[in-house]
Amino acid sequence: MTTIEHRVATGVSFALTEEQKGLRDLARDFAQKEIRLKAAEYDERSTHPADIIEKAHEVGLMNPHVPEEYGGAGLSSFDGMLIGEELSWGCAGIAVSIVANTLGATPVMLAGSDDQKRKWLVPLIESPILCSFGLTEPNAGSDVSGIETTAVRVGDDYVINGSKMFITNAGHAAWIVVFASTDKSQGHKGLSAFVVPTDLEGVTVEKHLDKMGQRATDTSAIAFQDVRVPAENLLGEEGEGFKIAMRTLDHTRPGTAAGAVGVARAAYEYAVEYSRTRVQFGQPIAMNQGVNFLIADMAAEIEAARLLTWQAAWLFDQGRRATLHSSFAKRFASDTAMKVTTDAVQIFGGYGYMKEYPVEKLMRDAKLFQIYEGTSQIQRLVIAREIFFPRD
Ligand SMILES: Cc1cc2nc3c(=O)[nH]c(=O)nc-3n(C[C@H](O)[C@H](O)[C@H](O)COP(=O)(O)OP(=O)(O)OC[C@H]3O[C@@H](n4cnc5c(N)ncnc54)[C@H](O)[C@@H]3O)c2cc1C
Repeated sequence: MTTIEHRVATGVSFALTEEQKGLRDLARDFAQKEIRLKAAEYDERSTHPADIIEKAHEVGLMNPHVPEEYGGAGLSSFDGMLIGEELSWGCAGIAVSIVANTLGATPVMLAGSDDQKRKWLVPLIESPILCSFGLTEPNAGSDVSGIETTAVRVGDDYVINGSKMFITNAGHAAWIVVFASTDKSQGHKGLSAFVVPTDLEGVTVEKHLDKMGQRATDTSAIAFQDVRVPAENLLGEEGEGFKIAMRTLDHTRPGTAAGAVGVARAAYEYAVEYSRTRVQFGQPIAMNQGVNFLIADMAAEIEAARLLTWQAAWLFDQGRRATLHSSFAKRFASDTAMKVTTDAVQIFGGYGYMKEYPVEKLMRDAKLFQIYEGTSQIQRLVIAREIFFPRD
């Protein structure tokens, strides 16, 4: 019988190669110089960080997994974790604006034909254009089978009608992968995935949504009214949309986990520094066990979250199925980021609650990791399903 113990990865090396250290340092330096200093301003204004995206593209921190044959660097999933943690350490909102292309492009990388990959991936490498992933709808969030958007075959085209909700970067994307029903009677098995250029007639970005955290990322609602998409834009076969969406999320959830680790690490570092310097009752507050136990737990949980994240990425790099480990990482790292940032605010006391100090933003940013790419409850649902109905 397959047990979790038997399925846990073995043979992971924790030693980064020289190339990986270089990549991490590049991302760390970029986060320090180009992201962190501007984080508060972008958070306050909630504006799209086009200038930072351009620079990230220039230095090679965008679209890391696009294969070399399509002009990309073809970096491993593990390498992507190193980039994601650092960028998010700088600011999760700006980081998501940069890394969300991976979410948009993964369905093409997983299910696209050679022609489709050439057509949609190569331009991402040539210039800092954005793409989005359009799964969620006003009435279909956790339950993807409730998708109401339809795609009807008419001659050489599909005609798409419907709307998508909470789509990252949709207001600035050149194209979006839209999941739509091609056969309502089949439920989730009737879903199909299409690449839809956003300049087609009938595509409307409805509104930029105002958020609690990660405010530098654009999150928009987008509508499709009688949008004619060439049939060649169908990814895979009709009816494969659900499978493509779930495989995509399996691949991208560790990246979200890495982002959560970056936010948690930032909060932890601020908390350590503050607790060393803030004096009450004649000594630094770090001298109190009630405070330094919080810090000890933060450190241990961040480390555990990173290891789960690396493990899931490593499994993908071995070509193995990693649904279970991907959800382990996403669930644990998101909840860790929420806990660590909340405790960091506590350690800062009243100052922690003030916008003048950095930790309240981190707490607001952390919350989103528990929601997008499947809520923490949905991760538990996936984990439980993998335990009770394991698939190899
Ligand atoms: C800022 C932001 C960016 C996003 N970016 C994208 C994007 O780029 N592309 C995209 O397609 N989507 C995106 N999303 C959507 C995101 O993935 C969904 O919000 C998420 O999957 C939850 O769906 P929902 O909001 O409709 O909540 P619901 O599905 O309505 O859930 C509401 C609550 O009920 C709980 N719940 C639901 N079903 C169950 C169950 N069976 N068991 C236990 N609890 C349950 C949930 O955990 C949650 O707490 C984004 C969301 C946000 C907020």
